[in-house]
Amino acid sequence: MTNSDQSNPPEGARLPAGCAVPAIGPLTEREHAEPAHPYRSPFQRDRARVIHSRAFRRLAGKTQVFTHRYSDHFRSRLTHTMEVAQIARAMANALGLNEDLAETLALAHDVGHPPFGHAGERALDDALREFGMHFDHNLHALRIVESFEIRYAAFPGLNLTLGVREGIVKHSHDYSAAEHPELRAYFLDLRPPLEAQLIDLADEIAYLTADTEDGFEAGILKLSELRRRVELFARAFESARSQYPGAAEKLLFNEAVRRMLNTLAGDLIRETARRVADGGIETLEQVRRFPERIVQFTPEMERQRRETKQYLYDALYNSKDLQRALHDSTAIVRDLFTCWVTEPALLPAAYRSQVGVEGAPRVVADYIAGMTDNYIQQQHRQWLKTQRPSGA
Ligand code: MG
Repeated sequence: MTNSDQSNPPEGARLPAGCAVPAIGPLTEREHAEPAHPYRSPFQRDRARVIHSRAFRRLAGKTQVFTHRYSDHFRSRLTHTMEVAQIARAMANALGLNEDLAETLALAHDVGHPPFGHAGERALDDALREFGMHFDHNLHALRIVESFEIRYAAFPGLNLTLGVREGIVKHSHDYSAAEHPELRAYFLDLRPPLEAQLIDLADEIAYLTADTEDGFEAGILKLSELRRRVELFARAFESARSQYPGAAEKLLFNEAVRRMLNTLAGDLIRETARRVADGGIETLEQVRRFPERIVQFTPEMERQRRETKQYLYDALYNSKDLQRALHDSTAIVRDLFTCWVTEPALLPAAYRSQVGVEGAPRVVADYIAGMTDNYIQQQHRQWLKTQRPSGA
């Protein structure tokens, strides 16, 4: 018997015609007006701009969870991003949403991440807190696309549409208008469009399954533990084994991860379609004014998602193995941050010129956040040489 509910697209997921809540209108407006493109839509142009940006290329050199010390076939932030994009696009299609907007948001969703994964982000945030500031990767991503990317003669940044910029800011976090007056253009008191809501959970689906896979391949996660502690995995593994009783364990593991992904995505699509239908949601305005986010898992799947995530924190993200691999990263970020904040004259000219405007801590954080793992390690090695006593 095939397990159709986990292997095939869920039935009834597609929204009735007219309920697609298309993200259009002011969402396609740009800060600097540009003539329409002869054959590409505004969100298709934005997708191209993101893919051609430097920040996007640098994702290849940034740690997702495993550093390159582990293996070159584990996910980098770039391949994670591509997985989020394909999951988001498939779900947007099933829900009748704007696939180009969803894909563009997925491709941009991690461009604001510093080197060394979450360890790097925490180190940068800790350093900024001493100056009464925070590091927030969504807000950093907005700074990248609004000003740091220098490609076009007519404007700074990528001049992305309002819909993409709003999604970059709001896909995973709701900011208060009182605390962030600089974000007032982004409808802070209102919900983001469904495409942006989708990205947050497409990201979760992508990393929960990918990290299970990479963690197992790295030998950190054990099959017996996964089956004992993660119901989502255990059910997927059992369904794979009953379908392929003689298959090798590794193949059953792969099949289980694939079924986990389909189970999560299918549940999200069905539950979101149900909520749209039950709420009588037909316009973007209704999405914006809905009392909570509309894109959600069922309560039971949400429970299983949380259980899976908690397990990954306990057994993988906080494991000694991974902590050791990222052991030096906090010191590297801290040393370089302190060095450049103390002596901004050592910064590259483009950043140095911003110190008078933004203050050294913010500019240094921007500079560090843009680096790949490899580049910041190189910078740190150079810095270490300057720390040796003269004549040593
Ligand atoms: Mg992500």
